[in-house]
Formats: sequence, C-alpha cells, structure tokens
Amino acid sequence: MRVVLLGPPGAGKGTQAQIIAGKLGVPAISTGDIFRANVSGQTELGRKAKVYMDAGDLVPDEITVAMVKGRLAEADATGGFLLDGFPRTIAQAEQLRSSLQDLGHGLDRVLELVVDEDELVRRLSGRRMLVDGQMVQRDDDKPETVRHRLKVYREQTAPLSGFYEGEGLLAPIDAIGSVEEVTSRAMRALGVHGDGEAGQPAAV
Ligand code: AMP
Repeated sequence: MRVVLLGPPGAGKGTQAQIIAGKLGVPAISTGDIFRANVSGQTELGRKAKVYMDAGDLVPDEITVAMVKGRLAEADATGGFLLDGFPRTIAQAEQLRSSLQDLGHGLDRVLELVVDEDELVRRLSGRRMLVDGQMVQRDDDKPETVRHRLKVYREQTAPLSGFYEGEGLLAPIDAIGSVEEVTSRAMRALGVHGDGEAGQPAAV
C-alpha cells in the first residue's frame, strides 16, 4: 500500500505512522526524521535544512522533493510506503504524483489526522523527546515557533485536504482519543482488518 499521513504538528503523525506502517508491513518515511538525522550528522543537507527548521518554516520544495525521491527509490519502498510529513505543499503533492506515475503507481489513500488547534498547542508545548538518555524539548516546539508552525500548516499544508479530496483519496480521521482508538479508525479507513489483510477501503 502507498499511503500519505497528513495532519498538523502535534496531531500524533509520528506515533501513528510507526504503528500503521508496522501493521501494513511498509516503511514509515518521515521527512522530519530524515532532516533531524542530517542535522545531528552535520551533513550538507542538514546544514541547509536547519536554518528553516529552527525558524519553524518549511525546507524549500526542491531540497525536500529530491530527498524524498531518493528515499522512495530505495529497495524497501518499492512495494509500498507510508509517508509522514510529506507532502506539505501542493507543489510537493504534484511532484509526488508525477514521480509515482512515472513508476506506474499511485497513492492508495491519504489519511488526515484531525485535531483542533487549542489541543495542538497544549500537546506541542508539553511534548518531549528522548535524546542521549534525557527528555528534551525539540527546539521547534518552543511556544513562539509552535505558533508559527501552525500558521505555516494552515497556509501551506491545509490546502492539501482539498487537493486529495479532489483525487478521491482523502480519509479524515478523528485524532482525539487514545493511540489505539486512532489507529483502529485509520486501519478501518484503509480497509485493513485486524490481521493486516487488506479489504475494500471504507467509503470516503
Ligand atoms: P516534522 O517532524 O514533520 O514536524 O518536521 C520538522 C520540520 O522539518 C518542519 O517544521 C520543516 O521545517 C521540516 N520538514 C519536514 N517535512 C517537510 C516537508 N515535507 N517540506 C518542507 N519541510 C519539511
């Protein structure tokens, strides 16, 4: 299956991506994680991306699209994938569509995790991650940057709902509830039964 997971920062994309991809038996590909790994590894890509990430802005499309194309060409992604955090602009979505078309493929489903903005701000300001054995706040989870990231999401990424609705691929998922509840809503929208076997996707 080829699936995109959409949703604002703080909607639980990273957590759900890992679980859903595991159930589908496809790699979870997170552009944010790839950028962060490049920043820690002090690569050229990381150096370029960091400036935008620290400001809560999107890394330019040409850098991001080239990176994703390279990742999708790796052997483990040829049979399917779950994209977490990509696409984030209409231009990225168009590029993804045309690179998949070139390979004779298309997306099967776009899951959109839906959470209201007050809840997102609450979740993001309390979020911590484990780095070298210590729980730390991501630089871009600081309150000022969070507000800016949500604005960037509204302006540049939210229009993707309409784009994918027009393609008949969008499945909005209520992302308020326990991790398990949200996963099972997502699996239902993918038409996948508890044993991981694919059936007909639920109507959208
Ligand atoms: P995330 O972990 O998905 O919240 O991503 C963290 C940061 O990485 C974002 O705030 C952006 O600066 C950058 N980033 C991740 N994915 C993309 C993308 N598809 N396009 C542009 N920038 C991205």
